[in-house]
Amino acid sequence: MNNKHVKFSYSQAIQLANWSIDIFYNEEAVHGFIFKDFWEELKEEIIPRLFKPHKKTILHYYLEYVDGFVEHDLRSTLKNLSISEYESYIYYEIKFIEGAGIDLSDVDLDFEAISNCNHCKSCISCIQFENFIDTIHGIQEEIKPIAINSSFHLLMLNKSFLRDFHEEIANHLVDEKEDLNVDYPEGFKKGNKVKRNRWPAWLKKGLFYRDNGVCVVCRCDMTGVINRGGDFEIDHIVPISNYGSNDPSNLQILCKDCNLKKLNKSSLISVYSVPLWNI
Ligand SMILES: [Zn+2]
Ligand SMILES: [Zn+2]
Repeated sequence: MNNKHVKFSYSQAIQLANWSIDIFYNEEAVHGFIFKDFWEELKEEIIPRLFKPHKKTILHYYLEYVDGFVEHDLRSTLKNLSISEYESYIYYEIKFIEGAGIDLSDVDLDFEAISNCNHCKSCISCIQFENFIDTIHGIQEEIKPIAINSSFHLLMLNKSFLRDFHEEIANHLVDEKEDLNVDYPEGFKKGNKVKRNRWPAWLKKGLFYRDNGVCVVCRCDMTGVINRGGDFEIDHIVPISNYGSNDPSNLQILCKDCNLKKLNKSSLISVYSVPLWNI
């Protein structure tokens, strides 16, 4: 397999993205935790990644964390379902897994027999079924990175979520008692704001494609297709002056003019999404 190409499972991505948004905005615990737990538990790992852009972003960490909390155990999900509900649930699960490029087309489960024996768990059909559940659990573990990566791609398009996510991280940085400049003088100024960074080529390219080569504020084309491609600048969605980080998920592209205008009022958070097409 060409390792430059990864598989996506958007069906799984939607589910994980939905949970992640749900947990993020909910003040009550969802699936047993609130967003603050994520920060408290992982901040030692996350803080050193806030000043230098990494391909594995803070958003990836969050998605992994959410995924770890969500119930994947089919047996407990199926516990309260009738056999016919089992059947539709299992087919739904199969569709999810097939979305990640795994072929389950030769799976043949005899739900009628399982219904007749009242899921005795010892006849041939039941044993087949139990083995199948084990197989699914193994596959789920295997395709976790696919679900996380696909979910990342969806949420990277959701600028208002990215803004809120990074504002929340910024709030935690403000509250951080420790002087991060002591441990990370290369990354943090006194007062826990990150230092400016040079942007690697992979990051510029990724953001340019995500934003379709269009300035997110004035929408001028910077691809060179419509007019001469202008240089673009990388902009912090939550500005450094407001404790925004250099994490890739806190960045977007701007044309030079808009970046200059924004510098004067750097507390301004502009969040726009560039549509693929309008109806
Ligand atoms: Zn049976
Ligand atoms: Zn512009």
